[in-house]
Amino acid sequence: MSKPHILIFPAPAQGHITSMLKLAELLCAAPGFRVTFLVPAYIHRRLSNHSNATSRLRKLPFRLHPIPDNGHQEDIRPGSFDVKDWLDSLRMTAQPSLKELLADEGDPIDCVISDGILSFVLEAAEEAGVPVFYMRTLSACAFWVYFCLPHLIQTQELPFNSNELDLPMVNLRGMEGVLRRSDLPSCCRHGLDSRSMQTIMHQTLQTPRAKGLILNTFDHLEAPTLDLIRTRIPNLYTVGPLHAHLQTRLTAIPNSSSTSLWEEDKTCLKWLDEQPENSVIYVSFGSIVRVTVEERTEFWQGLVNSGKRFLWVVRPDSGGIIPPEIADGGMGRVVGWAPQEAVLAHPAVGGFLTHCGWNSTLESVVAGVPMVCWPHFGDQQVNSRFVDDVWGIGRDMKDCCDRVVVEKMVRDVMEDRGGEFRRRAGDMAKAARESVVEGGTSYSDLDRLIRDIRDLCN
Ligand code: UDP
Repeated sequence: MSKPHILIFPAPAQGHITSMLKLAELLCAAPGFRVTFLVPAYIHRRLSNHSNATSRLRKLPFRLHPIPDNGHQEDIRPGSFDVKDWLDSLRMTAQPSLKELLADEGDPIDCVISDGILSFVLEAAEEAGVPVFYMRTLSACAFWVYFCLPHLIQTQELPFNSNELDLPMVNLRGMEGVLRRSDLPSCCRHGLDSRSMQTIMHQTLQTPRAKGLILNTFDHLEAPTLDLIRTRIPNLYTVGPLHAHLQTRLTAIPNSSSTSLWEEDKTCLKWLDEQPENSVIYVSFGSIVRVTVEERTEFWQGLVNSGKRFLWVVRPDSGGIIPPEIADGGMGRVVGWAPQEAVLAHPAVGGFLTHCGWNSTLESVVAGVPMVCWPHFGDQQVNSRFVDDVWGIGRDMKDCCDRVVVEKMVRDVMEDRGGEFRRRAGDMAKAARESVVEGGTSYSDLDRLIRDIRDLCN
């Protein structure tokens, strides 16, 4: 039997690393598979510092390989952050190590799984004659919207004036009557010439060049959109939710894995133990979003006025100050970084106030926890619309950050008067779990990916 050696290269951001590390772990569990996982040196240091992740990965045929970063390190930041510069600088620092690894005849790479926004990896692998699969770490619905951007330009849906966000529904195949302008990815608000729009469109349009596209989603959740994507990218693998998939396939390894770039504060789990069932709303805006002092005050007031208990993640680097009322406790608890999967699975947690990053959304889906969505940038605008309007498992605040709206939506979801949010969230959680056990769609698609990689290596 062949022993495939796979090189996995994520974009160096928490959400991308989280899901691609999980895929790496799943692939390592296939007999004979070895994985080399590339990350810039500064990410490698952060992952190794609190080494839950590495201690678990050490038990697997897995190599976390640092790419020299020449002292350069840049985390994604919305706003002034320039995605093109970020990708260009990654390309410059990573290309030499990447080419070296691809040319290594002593330990040849048989296949590359590249983050689908890193077309320079695709190009380097094509040059070296190594097959490449793409993985996108966003939802299928957001991917489809990105993929259709040229069509939206052609039909003059884009560009639009950013003062007219709420006007007509966007006419997009498969999503008729669903998306408003405000639900399109944030790059659509910045005009056609913006670097973010051009970059994301260019990267997405390269996808059909890869052997196949891997998505962290499951068929039941996004079936109509997945069917549309298959018309353009026939070889699609839906293998998610990856964190749930990992739990079912790797039960032999204790569930202690952390892929966090920040130290997790596990003391909040003890605090949750003391709270009544479904009484706490968990508040977190992921690894990138920065909340201004004004926004934080609106959230704080809205939460207090709702009368609900809350557990709030305020990252040390997220800017602004923590109002003393929050820091003092009372109905709430603040942590710098939470063990999110465990928090969402805790019986005390009855809702999630989230920015709708795709990992957070899927983690909430699997835990059956309804959401209040405050999307910020990228694919989050699309995801939050689907959570509210299509899946019916939460409310979408969209561009509004106002204490009255926060209070109302938190009450809607936590009190759930008709029981509908919790019922639908529970049904979706069940479907998610069914997809990752033997016979489920994601389980079968992962097996197919493993078979296809093995075939390529023979
Ligand atoms: N996360 C966590 N602890 C926190 C906040 C976030 O472990 O306190 C994890 C969360 O579980 C998720 C990831 O960080 O897996 C964030 O990814 P997501 O795609 O939701 O958002 P992004 O950070 O990319 O905006």
